[in-house]
Amino acid sequence: MKAALLELEARAKNCVGCELCKTRTNIVFSDGSPNAKIMLIGEAPGADEDKLGKPFVGRAGKLLNEFLKNAGLERQKDLYIANTLKCRPPENRKPKKEEKEACEKFLHAQIKTIKPKVIVLCGATAMESFLDKKFKISKVRGEIFDNVAGYKGIKFVPILHPSYLLRQHSLDEGSPRDLTLKDLIMIKKTALD
Ligand code: SF4
Repeated sequence: MKAALLELEARAKNCVGCELCKTRTNIVFSDGSPNAKIMLIGEAPGADEDKLGKPFVGRAGKLLNEFLKNAGLERQKDLYIANTLKCRPPENRKPKKEEKEACEKFLHAQIKTIKPKVIVLCGATAMESFLDKKFKISKVRGEIFDNVAGYKGIKFVPILHPSYLLRQHSLDEGSPRDLTLKDLIMIKKTALD
């Protein structure tokens, strides 16, 4: 583990930068490999993540694991996973603007340390942290954005969030599940080939 990440995680554990510090059980800092070429960024911890201190470990996380496997990606080797917020918003509500602003220092430092080739923006909240807020994820998912200010050389790709996919069961061509698998296969090719 890179020393800078350990130091950052220790700082997050003691962080009182927003009101979520009062209700968290654990901070949820990261999972996967610090040497990964792909960094996946989600929204914020849910109940399972808060309990276990790891991102994407609930039902949505299990579905994400299936998609990664089907795309030929190994979660622990090929990805570094983090969220826009390190602490759980109560009742899984959307992160507030001031919470995101208070927490973004951790995420930006993680990106600078990992130096990924591709950043996967998982869901609308993660996408809004980096791309134009007018974008709709259903329209721009699977597109590569390589001109994000402050992140020269990194390709950003939005994908649909697995918690949305939990409600979408079709595997037909063009369905959200079909498109997400294709997006992940493209991301693997872009980052690892
Ligand atoms: S969400 Fe981020 S800013 Fe808020 S207390 Fe947790 S680590 Fe600190």
